[in-house]
Amino acid sequence: MLVTGGSRGIGKATVEYFAKQGHKVSFLYEKEFSAAKEVERTTGAVGYACDVASSSAVAETIAKMPPVDVLVNNAGICHTGLISQITEEEFDRIFAVNVKGMYNCVRAVLPAMLQKGKGSIVNVSSMWGQVGASCEVSYSATKGAVIAMTKALAKELGPSHIRVNCVAPGVIQTDMCNNIEKDILSALQEETPIGRLGTAEDVAKAIGYLAEAEFVTGQVLGVNGGFVI
Ligand code: NDP
Repeated sequence: MLVTGGSRGIGKATVEYFAKQGHKVSFLYEKEFSAAKEVERTTGAVGYACDVASSSAVAETIAKMPPVDVLVNNAGICHTGLISQITEEEFDRIFAVNVKGMYNCVRAVLPAMLQKGKGSIVNVSSMWGQVGASCEVSYSATKGAVIAMTKALAKELGPSHIRVNCVAPGVIQTDMCNNIEKDILSALQEETPIGRLGTAEDVAKAIGYLAEAEFVTGQVLGVNGGFVI
C-alpha cells in the first residue's frame, strides 16, 4: 500500500490504520523528516521524502518500492485568501501538488496494477470540492478536479479491474486547520449535524473501507459529520 502525505494528519492516520491490519505500507512526505521517522518507528511503514508534484521524483521513488496494490492520494496543501490575493505562483503550486501530484502517482503505480489485473486507488478530495468555499477558491478548484479525475479514472480503469474512489472530508482537526481562527472552528462545529469536528482517524476508516469495497468504484464518500448532505 502507498499513502502520499503519510507523515502527518489524515495520511499518518491512514498509514496507522493499514499497518494495524498487517499490510506492508510505504508512504511519501515532503519536508517533515522527524515526523516521518516517528511514523516509521511506530508503524513499521517505510517513508520516502518525495515531492508529489515532481513526476521524475515520483517515478524514481515508486520504482524503489514493492508493487503497489492500493494507492491513497492524500498529499495536499491549502491556500486561504481572496482570489485577488493568491499569486500566480501559489495558484500553480496548489494545482501542482493537489492535482498533478495525483496524476504523477497514478501513472507511476499503474503499470504494476495493470500487470496484476487488479488495484484500488483512493483519492482525498474535500467537501469544498463539492460545494466550493469562499476564500478557498484555488483549493476548492483542485478538490473539484480530484472528484472529476476520480470519476473519469473509474470509468477508464474499471475494465482493468482497478477501482478508483474518493473521500470528501469535512473539517478535520489536523495541522491544515492550524491557521483557522478558534471562533470560526466553533461556528463550523455548530453547523455540523453530528456536533463535532472530524478526526484524521474518521477519514482513515472511510479510506480503508473504499480501499477494500470490491464492488464500489467512481464514488465520492463524504466524511463530514453531515455538513454537506
Ligand atoms: P496536513 O497538513 O496535516 O498533512 C499534509 C501531508 O501532506 C503531510 O504529510 C505533508 O508532508 C504532505 N505533503 C504536502 N505537500 C506534499 C508534497 N508536495 N509532496 C509530498 N507530500 C506532501 O494535512 P491533512 O492531513 O489535513 O490533509 C491531507 C489531505 O486531506 C489533503 O489532501 C487535504 O487537502 C485533505 N483534506 C483535509 C481536510 C482538513 O480539514 N484537514 C478537509 C478535507 C480534505 P510533510 O509532513 O513533509 O510536510
